[in-house]
Amino acid sequence: MLTWVVVGLLWILCAFAAGYIAGNKDRSVWTWFLLGIPFGIFALIAISALEKKVPPTWICPRCKRANALTSNFCGDCGHAQVRPAPDEKRT
Ligand SMILES: [Zn+2]
Repeated sequence: MLTWVVVGLLWILCAFAAGYIAGNKDRSVWTWFLLGIPFGIFALIAISALEKKVPPTWICPRCKRANALTSNFCGDCGHAQVRPAPDEKRT
């Protein structure tokens, strides 16, 4: 009986750990916590194996620096981001 209580606690602990690791990897804490409840240690293994999410970037054509997609100018040389042509609805 006590064994099952311990196993259950470890299982829940895995769910918390999966959520915690997910948060560190910029992934959804709640999704991984909820996945951790049915899958326990397996969710923990899965999130441990996943790479950290990399935010989308654009490469500066002038200095080859990777900049966040949200920034309009290169952080290094100030070169403006070359965006794909905007839709033609603008007049
Ligand atoms: Zn640059």
